[in-house]
Amino acid sequence: MTDDTWGRVCKDLEKTIGKNNYVTWIAPLEFRALEDGVARFAVPTNFVGEWVKRNFGDRIVEQLARNGMAVDRLEFAVAASKPAGTTASAAAPKRPASVSQSDARGEGDLPGAPLDARFTFETFVTGKPNELAHAAARRVAEGGAVTFNPLFLYGGVGLGKTHLMHAIAWELRERVPEAKVVYLSAEQFMYRFVQALRERDMMGFKSLFRSVDVLMVDDVQFIAGKDSTQEEFFHTFNALVDQGKQIVISADRAPGEIKDLEDRIKSRLQCGLVVDLHPTDYELRLGILQQKVEMYRQQYPGLVISDGVLEFLAHRITTNVRVLEGALTRLFAFASLVGKEITLDLAQDCLADILRASERKVTVEEIQRKVSEHFNMRLADMVGPKRHRTIARPRQIAMWLAKQLTQRSLPEIGRRFGGRDHTTVMHAVKRIEELRASDSQIAEDLEMLRRMLEG
Ligand code: ADP
Ligand code: MG
Repeated sequence: MTDDTWGRVCKDLEKTIGKNNYVTWIAPLEFRALEDGVARFAVPTNFVGEWVKRNFGDRIVEQLARNGMAVDRLEFAVAASKPAGTTASAAAPKRPASVSQSDARGEGDLPGAPLDARFTFETFVTGKPNELAHAAARRVAEGGAVTFNPLFLYGGVGLGKTHLMHAIAWELRERVPEAKVVYLSAEQFMYRFVQALRERDMMGFKSLFRSVDVLMVDDVQFIAGKDSTQEEFFHTFNALVDQGKQIVISADRAPGEIKDLEDRIKSRLQCGLVVDLHPTDYELRLGILQQKVEMYRQQYPGLVISDGVLEFLAHRITTNVRVLEGALTRLFAFASLVGKEITLDLAQDCLADILRASERKVTVEEIQRKVSEHFNMRLADMVGPKRHRTIARPRQIAMWLAKQLTQRSLPEIGRRFGGRDHTTVMHAVKRIEELRASDSQIAEDLEMLRRMLEG
C-alpha cells in the first residue's frame, strides 16, 4: 500500500467516523507497511493504538478493503523516536510520603480534597478488566494537549475509580507542578456550592472553579436529582471545556444510565471518552494480592504465607477489591498478633464471615437452566409432569444440585420443580448419590455442572 492509498482511506474514514474522531484518533497514525496481510502503523502512544484498534479497527480494515487492500490484521507500535507514553512509570519520580503535602504546596485556597498517598499508578495493578481505564488515565496524566474531554470513568464499587483519579492528580503534580489540579467528590462540590449560596458568594465560587486547569469530580451520580447543583455543575463543566481545560469524571454507571440526571448533562458527559472498569477477574485479583503482600513484606519481613493462600482468596473473594484488601489486612493483623504463619486453615478461620458473604449464590432456576441446556431438553420439562427417563433423570440431577449448592430445604426445592412433594426430592437425591458412585459418566456430568454453576 502506498501513502496515497492510506490518504484515500483516511478521507473515507473521516466521512464515516466524523471529523472529531478522525482528528483525535486517525490523524496521529502513521502508516508504515503492509506485509503478509498485516498493516503496520506507528502511533504516538500505546493508548492511541489500543483505542483505535478497539473502536475503529473493523472500519479501517473495511475501508482498506474498499480501496483494494486485503488486510487481515492491524498492528500498532509506538514510534521509537517519540518517548512519550510507554515508559512513563519507569521515569516517574518518587511519591510524596504523606497527604499533607498538598497543603504544604500552598493550595489551601483550591477547593480540592486531599489525595491518598497510596493511590498512585505504581500501586495500581492492571489486567484485562481495567487496562483501558488505566491507559486512559495515564494519557490524561501525561498532561499534554487535551484530546478527550471529559474522561469519564465508570464501574461498580471498589474497582479502582477513586484510585485512578488520585493517581492522575499525583502524576500531574509531578509533571506539571504549575497546573492547578483539583480533585473532589460530587458531594463536596455540592457542599461548596450550597455554602457559596448561603454566604452569597457565587462569584467567588464561580471564579474559584473556573480557574482550575484540571478538574476531577468523583462519584458524579451523587448530584443526580439535585437540580440546582446539577445546573451549576453543568455551567462549571462548560466553562472549563470552553477554556480547553481537562475534566475527569467518575460514576458508578454509564452517563446514559444515571437516573435523574438532565439529558443535556448526560450528553455532555458522553462527548469525551467513556471507559468502564469491568469486574475483576481471577488473574487481576491475584495480582493485587501479590502486590499488597509485597508491600506488606517490606514492613514486616518475617511474614510467611503458605502456598495456595493467595490463590484461594483470589478464587473465593470475588466481590470487589476493597473487600479483598480488607481480608488481607485482617489476615496480616491476626498473623502478627499470634505470630503464626498464614496457612489455608488460618485464612479460612479468620475470614469465615467474609468468605461466607462472598459465596456465590446459585439459584434453583439457574440450576434448572444449566441442566436442561446440558441435556438438551426444554426448560419447561424441568417443572412439567413428564416422567420419561430422558427427562426424569436430568430433573433428578437438577434436584441433587439444588440440594448441594443452595440453602433450600427439600420442600422448597420440590415446590420449585412444579410443586413436587419433598419425598420426591429426597428420592431423587438418594438415587443420584447411588448413581454417582456407580456410574462414572454421571459422576463426570455432575462434577462439570457443579463447576459451571459455581463459576
Ligand atoms: P472505587 O472508587 O471504584 O469504588 P477505589 O478506587 O476506592 O474504588 O478502590 C478500592 C480499593 O481497592 C482501594 O484501596 C484501591 O487502592 C484498591 N484497588 C482497586 N483497584 C486496584 C488495582 N487495580 N490495583 C491496586 N489496588 C486497587
Ligand atoms: Mg470511589
